[in-house]
Amino acid sequence: MSSIPCITGPDFGERFSQRLPGGRFPLSGQWELTCRCNLRCVMCYTDCFNTLDKIQQELSFPEILRIMDEIHEAGCLELCLTGGEPLVRKDFGDIYAYAKQKGFLVTVFTNGTLLTEKIADYWACSPPSMIEISFHGLTQRSFEQITQGAGSYERCLAGIRLILERNLPLTLKTTGMTVNRDEVLKIKEYVAGLGKDRPNKVQYKFGSDVRPRLDGSEDVYQYQLLENDITDIEQADPEFRAERFRQNGEAEARLREGAILCAGGQYKFHIDAYGQLQLCSNNRRQSYDLRRGSFQEGFYRFLPLFPCPNKALAPELIRIDTAQNGKAQVAVQD
Ligand code: SF4
Ligand code: SF4
Repeated sequence: MSSIPCITGPDFGERFSQRLPGGRFPLSGQWELTCRCNLRCVMCYTDCFNTLDKIQQELSFPEILRIMDEIHEAGCLELCLTGGEPLVRKDFGDIYAYAKQKGFLVTVFTNGTLLTEKIADYWACSPPSMIEISFHGLTQRSFEQITQGAGSYERCLAGIRLILERNLPLTLKTTGMTVNRDEVLKIKEYVAGLGKDRPNKVQYKFGSDVRPRLDGSEDVYQYQLLENDITDIEQADPEFRAERFRQNGEAEARLREGAILCAGGQYKFHIDAYGQLQLCSNNRRQSYDLRRGSFQEGFYRFLPLFPCPNKALAPELIRIDTAQNGKAQVAVQD
């Protein structure tokens, strides 16, 4: 008997959307349920909206259910529930349960510090596709220097233990910054150790994107790593090197096929805490208000009109330069 071939999520989304009229379908969404959080990480882009007036503007539970129904009717398969810290919402458990009951594949992004036995037990019965916990420092000092939350290191470790004990799918992830640059490879090693006796390996993600805060302030860039630092980290580890090679190859192949580089608005979408539908969490130049209109209208009629610098580039005008730092750089031909 031949086995069913596996393909990656992005490949699936790309192939799937190519077969649809207009080539677009809302397969996968990221939903920022709140900008609230119990921590105040130095590089956090949502923390500036962790204020009383913004909290009062957040979607209510009935509004979330109504929008989720519409997303479900539109055929979406995958939902990532994130924040801020989604677990600070008192109704998070009910939102999660509703998403599972609808049949979504649910990923939860969390800082891990608010996880309890009760939540972990519930997840053991009704598991997320993936739980992604931010883990930016290997020692209490470096961890809490970033989170600015006393006791957050131990609470995060306790949260990780709750997930491990139930053998739930887990990814730990680190944003590489000036303040933890020398710890990234050690954190990766630590994560590999966590997974070694488990049937499910604990995944690890390293990212280096530091983005402006939602109020536009750019002070966060003081924490951003230089390109050389990122290259040094990636080149020092065989798995990171292989991942960089894979990503560059994928980007080149997609450009040669004339495909766009990004799935935002194509088969992915983003909703913020106030019900604004956007291309992705990194591109909030324009929004469609789901409080005033329907998801179908927002996704099919308005999202394609939203501006995105990368999507404006015609493939024949693009060249890829990988020579300088090993990263695929997209440049416009003269
Ligand atoms: S844990 Fe996440 S949401 Fe909370 S402050 Fe840190 S980066 Fe922001
Ligand atoms: S900004 Fe544009 S190209 Fe970049 S991830 Fe968002 S939608 Fe994609």
